[in-house]
Amino acid sequence: MKPAPFKYAKAGSVEEATALLDEHGDDVKVLAGGQSLIPLMNMRLARPEVLIDINGIESLSGIEVNGGLTIGATTRHAAVIRSGEVQRFAPIIGEAMRHVGHVGIRSRGTFGGSVAHADPASEIPTIVLALDAELTVAGLAGERTVAAEDYFVSTFTTEMEDNELLTAVRFPYPLDHAVWSFHEVARRHGDFALVGVAAVAEVDDAGVCTRARVALSGVADVPVRVKAAEELLVGSAISDVAEEAGRLAEREIDPGADFHASAEYRKEVARALVTRALNDMATKGESR
Ligand SMILES: Cc1cc2nc3c(=O)[nH]c(=O)nc-3n(C[C@H](O)[C@H](O)[C@H](O)COP(=O)(O)OP(=O)(O)OC[C@H]3O[C@@H](n4cnc5c(N)ncnc54)[C@H](O)[C@@H]3O)c2cc1C
Repeated sequence: MKPAPFKYAKAGSVEEATALLDEHGDDVKVLAGGQSLIPLMNMRLARPEVLIDINGIESLSGIEVNGGLTIGATTRHAAVIRSGEVQRFAPIIGEAMRHVGHVGIRSRGTFGGSVAHADPASEIPTIVLALDAELTVAGLAGERTVAAEDYFVSTFTTEMEDNELLTAVRFPYPLDHAVWSFHEVARRHGDFALVGVAAVAEVDDAGVCTRARVALSGVADVPVRVKAAEELLVGSAISDVAEEAGRLAEREIDPGADFHASAEYRKEVARALVTRALNDMATKGESR
């Protein structure tokens, strides 16, 4: 299949990219790894008149630890997975990303492309939410920062304007004193998950949880935090409340049904995955 005709422009800087985006209004799309956009164009589900290629903007690619962990928007999935800095700072990121597609997709697809694409079944937006990431967005007036919780609006829709560019994702705190777990259920390895869970907690010397994040993919039109489960965890030993937290997750979500799974199935999987993730974390906490 072939896309509808389009014009192509290659931006050399963030300023040039945002100026081009502004010039072309709603008929324009950013081209990052192309692993979501090009299939949509080939199927004629997207018909942008202009593509702005951001792959040549050097400042958008790279991984840096400087207080927090910053991943540039065009950093390829494979580079994030291989990164020693990511592994040391927040190993859950690499663990979740091993579930993304296949080798070819991970070689081209970009971290920022996945966040900006905002597929609610994707691993990366769920991790971004679970780790309280801060997103840097550039526009004509300069840069602004958006909290992950405010960024995802609905399926394939974020709070960015059409003339804005996601430039980087910053994870503000390391997970070196935290326990974490990532699980998902997909029909085949590499498929988008039917449901996924990313959970992170800090536990004090007495084994009591002092801070928790539990985020789910595939159960709403955006990745969601299960705040009732997080509240239950704080002040408890994780193993004591893992089952109940799973039941709270099942009760709190209202997933839709589609070709792949019924709403009831997704609720049941969410319950099981939350309990499994928390039991994992309890075991990791005991062995530290
Ligand atoms: C067969 C297949 C299986 C896949 N399986 C999975 C999976 O299991 N899990 C998963 O998470 N993903 C999966 N993907 C998608 C893959 O991870 C993509 O790489 C990712 O969704 C988009 O990143 P990209 O860099 O390719 O973005 P592109 O395809 O280039 O762009 C996607 C969208 O985001 C916009 N965009 C991109 N970058 C920016 C930016 N910096 N600022 C503003 N807007 C931007 C584009 O304009 C476009 O609308 C799969 C893809 C394929 C083809």
